[in-house]
Amino acid sequence: MQLARFPRVPLAHLPTPLEPLPRLTAALGGPEIWVKRDDCTGLATGGNKTRKLEFLIADALAQGADTVITAGGVQSNHVRQTAAAAARHGLACELVLPRVVDWHDPNYPVGGNLLMDRLLGATVHIMDKGVDRDAEMAGLAERLAGEGRKPYVIPVGGSNPVGALGYANCAMELTSQANELGVTFDALIHGSGSGGTQAGLVVGLQAIRARLPVIGINDSDTADELSAKVSEVAQGLADMLDVAGEVDPDAIECIDGYVGPGYGIPTDGMVEALKLCAETEGLILDPVYSGKAMAGLIDLVRLGRFARGRRIVFLHTGGTAALSTYASAFDWG
Ligand SMILES: *Cc1c(COP(=O)(O)O)cnc(C)c1O
Repeated sequence: MQLARFPRVPLAHLPTPLEPLPRLTAALGGPEIWVKRDDCTGLATGGNKTRKLEFLIADALAQGADTVITAGGVQSNHVRQTAAAAARHGLACELVLPRVVDWHDPNYPVGGNLLMDRLLGATVHIMDKGVDRDAEMAGLAERLAGEGRKPYVIPVGGSNPVGALGYANCAMELTSQANELGVTFDALIHGSGSGGTQAGLVVGLQAIRARLPVIGINDSDTADELSAKVSEVAQGLADMLDVAGEVDPDAIECIDGYVGPGYGIPTDGMVEALKLCAETEGLILDPVYSGKAMAGLIDLVRLGRFARGRRIVFLHTGGTAALSTYASAFDWG
């Protein structure tokens, strides 16, 4: 698997740290828990989309684009990192942002990621909840092309095989860090949404035969919808990378039960997870993805899925840029 065959621009601070969480481990009394800090990728406060954008922006530049178009919720981390990556490369950036989340914190419609999108010079198109994001992006691309611009559309979450290359790379990075430290992991757990992170990890780990199971905690649709998305991107990536054979369907594990009433809506488990990680480790999670994923991890530990003596790694995918738009989810907010 030679990733250098694909065009890539540097955007992320790599490698991200891999650290033990001894006080969280002690508080839960189960397996040893470590964290891979992809919240520290560095681009406009970082997060998991930065690794994908290294390949997506390179592809846009290779195709001669002068504008990138992408979409997401009003507080999308993917959109904010895309706006920053575009700014870094002198590309214009157009954002399709439907109000998909019914969350009414006063900061939500103005602060957090959206404030940064605007600071980064992106053109923001706020839309009604029901619009078809792909159709809106296609329409915008057509209109801009008609004006002589050269748009490049990045799908929601940057989740296509090109973007997922970033997480095949992360799979190798994590494995080599673990090898250097002399530690092995029994599972890798993370928050999963549009599926590209999980697809890249699964295919990357399969390609190097790491035998490290990946567990995606579903943070938006149902686990079935998520595994369909992960499989599709994973198979496309495996073909691109020439990884032999089909992607093993058993390697795609998506766990439901922690999203609560819906995408971006706070849950009690999320609030508990944010407080516990902050108080035991000084580690800040986010309310939409990593907090619900950690709530899942905590629950799986309590259910006895991982014995004491096992070692698991939590991939922190970022998202803390939106935290202040959720102040009212907390007792003192
Ligand atoms: C986008 C995102 C995820 C999910 O990653 P996907 O590749 O879309 O599945 C997880 N955590 C955070 C903070 C994100 O912004």
